Amino acid sequence: MVKKYVYFFGNATAEGNASMRDLLGGKGANLAEMAGHKDLRLPVPPGFTITTEVCNLYYKNGKKMPVELKAQVEAAMKKVEGAMAKKFGDPKNPLLVSVRSGARASMPGMMETILNCGLTEKTLPGLAEKFGSERFAYDAYRRLIAMYADVVMEKAAGIEPKEGKAIRGQLDSILEKVKHENHYESDKDLKIKDLKTLIALYKARIKDVLGKEFPDDPSQQLWGAVMAVFNSWNGKKAISYRRIEGIPDAWGTAVNVQSMAFGNTGDKSGTGVAFTRNPGNGDNAFYGEYLVNAQGEDVVAGTRTPSPINKYSQSSHNKHLPILAEWDVKVYKQIEDIRSRLEKHYRDMQDIEFTVEEGKLFMLQCRSGKRNGPAAVKMAVDMVKEKLITKEEAVMRVKPSQLDELLHPIIDPVEEKKAYIVGKGLPAGPGGASGQIVFTAQAAVEWKKSGKKTILVREETNPEDVEGMRASEAILTARGGMTSHAALVARGWGKCCVVGCSEMDVNVSAKTLTVKGKMLKEGDWITLNGTKGTFYEGRLPMIDGTEDNKDLYDFLNLCDAVRTMKIRTNADTPEDARKARKFGAEGIGLFRTEHMFYGKNSEEPLFKLRKMIMSKSEEERRVALNELFPHVKSDIKGTMEAMDGYPVTIRLLDPPLHEFVPHNEEAQKSLAQSLGISAEELQKRADGLHENNPMMGHRGCRLGITYPEVTEMQVRAILEAAAELVKEGKKVQPEIMIPVVGAVAELDHQKAIVDRVYAEVCKKYNLKKFDYLFGTMIEVPRAALTAGKIAESAEFFSFGTNDLTQMTFGFSRDDIGGFLPYYLEGEILPEDPFQSIDENGVGQLIEMGVTRGRSIKPKLKIGICGEHGGDPKSIHFCYKVGMDYVSCSPYRVPIARLASAQAALKNPEKTTAKSSKPVGAKGSFKKTLKSR
Ligand code: ADP
Ligand code: MG
Ligand code: MG
Repeated sequence: MVKKYVYFFGNATAEGNASMRDLLGGKGANLAEMAGHKDLRLPVPPGFTITTEVCNLYYKNGKKMPVELKAQVEAAMKKVEGAMAKKFGDPKNPLLVSVRSGARASMPGMMETILNCGLTEKTLPGLAEKFGSERFAYDAYRRLIAMYADVVMEKAAGIEPKEGKAIRGQLDSILEKVKHENHYESDKDLKIKDLKTLIALYKARIKDVLGKEFPDDPSQQLWGAVMAVFNSWNGKKAISYRRIEGIPDAWGTAVNVQSMAFGNTGDKSGTGVAFTRNPGNGDNAFYGEYLVNAQGEDVVAGTRTPSPINKYSQSSHNKHLPILAEWDVKVYKQIEDIRSRLEKHYRDMQDIEFTVEEGKLFMLQCRSGKRNGPAAVKMAVDMVKEKLITKEEAVMRVKPSQLDELLHPIIDPVEEKKAYIVGKGLPAGPGGASGQIVFTAQAAVEWKKSGKKTILVREETNPEDVEGMRASEAILTARGGMTSHAALVARGWGKCCVVGCSEMDVNVSAKTLTVKGKMLKEGDWITLNGTKGTFYEGRLPMIDGTEDNKDLYDFLNLCDAVRTMKIRTNADTPEDARKARKFGAEGIGLFRTEHMFYGKNSEEPLFKLRKMIMSKSEEERRVALNELFPHVKSDIKGTMEAMDGYPVTIRLLDPPLHEFVPHNEEAQKSLAQSLGISAEELQKRADGLHENNPMMGHRGCRLGITYPEVTEMQVRAILEAAAELVKEGKKVQPEIMIPVVGAVAELDHQKAIVDRVYAEVCKKYNLKKFDYLFGTMIEVPRAALTAGKIAESAEFFSFGTNDLTQMTFGFSRDDIGGFLPYYLEGEILPEDPFQSIDENGVGQLIEMGVTRGRSIKPKLKIGICGEHGGDPKSIHFCYKVGMDYVSCSPYRVPIARLASAQAALKNPEKTTAKSSKPVGAKGSFKKTLKSR
C-alpha cells in the first residue's frame, strides 16, 4: 500500500483531526478539526494538508519530494475543485489556493505562506469576471507576485541579498513610489491602471534582480510554493526561533494547500485576528482586530491600523475606527457564536484567523492562544470556576516560567505617579522594565554580551528581530496592535512590551526617537510599564508585584490541591521567612547559622565570632563562645517561633573560618585588643588559618570535630530555644543538620555532643522530652555512597546539591565562569549543572542516597536544599526519586508549588510521599520574627 501523504479537509468532512498535530502540524490538524468535527463543522475553505513526514523525506532525499506525492496532491486538488466548483488553472473559473506552512508547535511568522497561488495572466480575467471586479483581480495578482518573488524565488532559493537589497523591499518601494506620485494615502486608493503598471514594474524588477521570470503557470507556482514552505523550515529565522524555544529540528513542517477566501474584493470584505479571551490580562472577553478590504498578513504587518472587532477591543489608537460588530452585524454574531463553540470544544483560549468574503465568514485558523503569565494564571483560575476545565488541567495550563512573570517586579506605583509619561501605546507584555535604548536587534544582542540592559525600540518588529528581542529587557514599537509581531512574540516569552506608540518617531539611522518634541538617543535610559502601555525617561525603581494578586493565590491553592511533595524555603533572615510563609512555604529547609554574621545588625555577633576564631586555646574559645551564645539562641528562637510549628532545619556552622577574618586594620586592632594580644600575634593566627583549597578544607563538620565546643554552643542554643518555646506552650520542630559529612563516624561524633546537650537541656528546663530531629546534609559523594550506614545515625537527609555537584564534577562553583560558557556553546554540557540537576551523574548519587538511606530507615525524611530546589526540572526529578520536600529561596516557593503539582500529575503512578505536617499553632503568620 502506498503511504498516505495528503489529508483532505472541507465541506463538513476531514480526513484528519486535532489529535494528529504531529503528522499534520498544528494548523493542518486544527483546520481538519474545525471543518470536520461534528460539534464544529465551521466554514473552513476546503483544502488539504501534506504531512510533516513528507518534509522529513524531502530533506532526507536531498531536497526531493517522494514520487508518490504528485498523484496524491492531484487527487486531493480534484476534491477541492469539486467542493468549490472551480478548477485550478481554469481560465473561466479559476480556483486559487494559499500554500501555508504549519509545524507541530506554532512558530508565528517564522515560516512562509503564499496567497493567491494559481493566478496568472490567463486566469486573471476569469477571476475578475467572477467577482465583478477587475481591480480586485489585479490586486490579488500583484500580491502574489510580490510574495512569490520574496518567498520562493529569493528566500527558498537560498539567495542572501545585501542589506536593503531584498526583493520584497525593492518591490515595496516601487509600490510606495507609485502611491506617492499619485498622492495616495493607502493601498486601497490604487486604481486598476496603477495596479497594471505595478505588475509590469514588479515583473521587470524580478527578472532584473533575480535573473528569472515570475512563473506564470499555476502548477509551477503550486510546487514552487510547496517546496518553499519546506525550505523555510530551515530558514535562518526559523532555526533561531527553534533554538530559543527548544523545538527539535526533526519535527519538520506540514504544508496546507487551501482554497482562497478573499478579504480584498471590496468594502464588504475583510480579514481579522481575534482571541477568545484577552491574552494580555486574561479577561473573559472577546478581543480582536480586523481590516476592511485586506488580505492575510495586512493585519499583523501593521501597515494600516486595524479596527477593533468590538467595544471591548477599543483603545485610544483605534477608537475612531468602525467596530466589526457594527460593520457587519450578521458576521459579528456568527463569529461570536463560533468563539464560544471553539472554547467549549477546545476548553482553552483560542487564537483565530478569519476572513470575510462579500459578507460571508470563513475560518482560516485556530490554535491555543499564546498568553502572558498573568493572563495564563487568570484564565486557569476562571476556567475552573466556569467548570470548563478541572483543577488538574488548570495546574498544567501554566508554565513555571509564566508564573515567574507574576513574581517579577513592577514599577513602584508611588514613583510612577510622580514620573512624566513620555509616551503611550498598547500594553502588550506585563510588568516593568528599565534599560538603555537600542534601535537594532543586532545592537541589543551585542550590548547584552557586554552586560548591558537594553530596551529595543523599533518602528515595528519582524521575524528577523527575534534574537534582539530576546536579548533586550523589553520591547517598544511605534506601530502595530495587540496582534502585531512584537506583541505576539513578547507575549509568548512573557517579556515586558509596549506596542503601537504612534506618537513616537523612530529614526534608526540617526539612532534617535522623538515623542511630542522630546528626543532620546541610543544609550538613554527609559522605563516601560508593559501592563499599562506607558513609558518614562530614566530608571524608575521597581517593587514586588505579588502583594494583592488574588488570582496568584487562588492558582497556588489549586496547585496545593494536587501536590503531594512539601515545599520549604531557604531563609536566614526574618524578611525572607516572612515572604516565604506568605508564598506558602511549609517550613525552613535550610537556615544557615553563619548568615547572622553577615549584613544588617551583624557587627556585634561577628565581632564575637571573630574572637572565637582567633582564640588559641579551648579556654579562650569558650569565653568567646559564651558571649556568642545569646545571639545565636535568640536568632534561632525568633525564627522557630515565626515558623508557627513548621519544621526548621538549622545547619551548623559551615564555611571555612578564614572567611570571617577581618581585613581592615581598624577591625584587626580592636580584635587584638579585646583578645589581649598584639597585632603581630593576631596576624600570625590569621595566617595560620590560610588554606590552599578552602572549599575542600577545614569546614563543615570538620570544624565541629576539631572544636567540639563550637558544635556544643550551637546545639545548646537550638535546644534551649526549642525548650523555652515548648515551655511557652508553642510547637516547634527543630532539625539539627550537620554539614559536609562523608563518613558516619563524623556524624556519630557530633551526635554524641547533641545527645549530651539534649539531656542537659531537658534537665535544665525540667522537661521529660521534647521533639527534635538529628540529621545530615548529603553533599559529599561519599555520603551518598555510604548512605545506608549514615542512615543508621541520621533521622533525615537533606541533599546539598550545590556541593554535591561541585564535588561530583570536580568543578569549583566559584571558578566555573571561566569555562562553562565554552562548555555550553560547544555542547559539551547540555546545561549548567548548578542550575538544573545533572540527572545522569549527580542524579545517580541522589537516587543511590535515597534508596540506600530508606533501605535502613523506610520513613527517613528526605529533602533537598541546594539551588536546584527552585528549578522546575530538578523538582520533577526530586519528586521522582521520592523526596518528601524541596527547599528553595522565598521567591521560588510559588514556582516550586506549581512544579511539584505538575510533577505529581505527570507521574500518577508514584505513591504519595510521606509529608511533614505542621504540628500545631495553626492560623496565619501573625508573629513577626525578632529582628537582629
Ligand atoms: P502564519 O502561520 O504566519 O500565520 P498563515 O498560513 O496563517 O501564516 O497565513 C498568513 C496569512 O494569510 C494569515 O493572515 C491567513 O489568515 C492568511 N491566509 C492563509 N490562507 C488563506 C486563505 N486560504 N484564504 C485567505 N487568507 C488566507
Ligand atoms: Mg496564521
Ligand atoms: Mg554545602
